[in-house]
Amino acid sequence: MGFSWKAAWNYKCPRCRQGDIFIKPLNLKNPLAMPDKCQYCGQKTEPEIGFYYGAMMVSYAISSWLFLGIVLFLVFYYKWTVESAMLVVIALAVVTYLWLLRYSRSLWLHLMEKHKPEVEERVKLEIANRTVEQKEWKPRISKKK
Ligand SMILES: [Zn+2]
Repeated sequence: MGFSWKAAWNYKCPRCRQGDIFIKPLNLKNPLAMPDKCQYCGQKTEPEIGFYYGAMMVSYAISSWLFLGIVLFLVFYYKWTVESAMLVVIALAVVTYLWLLRYSRSLWLHLMEKHKPEVEERVKLEIANRTVEQKEWKPRISKKK
């Protein structure tokens, strides 16, 4: 399959779906910090300069439709005033701001870069081999203590 909502949701690399496209853990001073490329398959996280202008459109589209929907729902279904519905939406926009920024970047990268199943298989194998080595390696250390 060419597109995975799950991988985009989890901020995974679009090509191998194993590497992270944001630096963990989240640094609030620089929430959009990304590694230059995927740690596993080398997929660039910023394929070209200005790549993420498109992500701004994604986040704008998501937020405007979502927030408009919420306002209409509160006003017409619950008979709220437009002013109080707007307050709720503004509060929501503040709370979801960071998430929306990151998610729209992730979505955009996933829309633009193709998934490669053969790369995913290779990377998964690499990770599996690595964890086997670590399992064999750890007991030797604990015996020394
Ligand atoms: Zn990758």
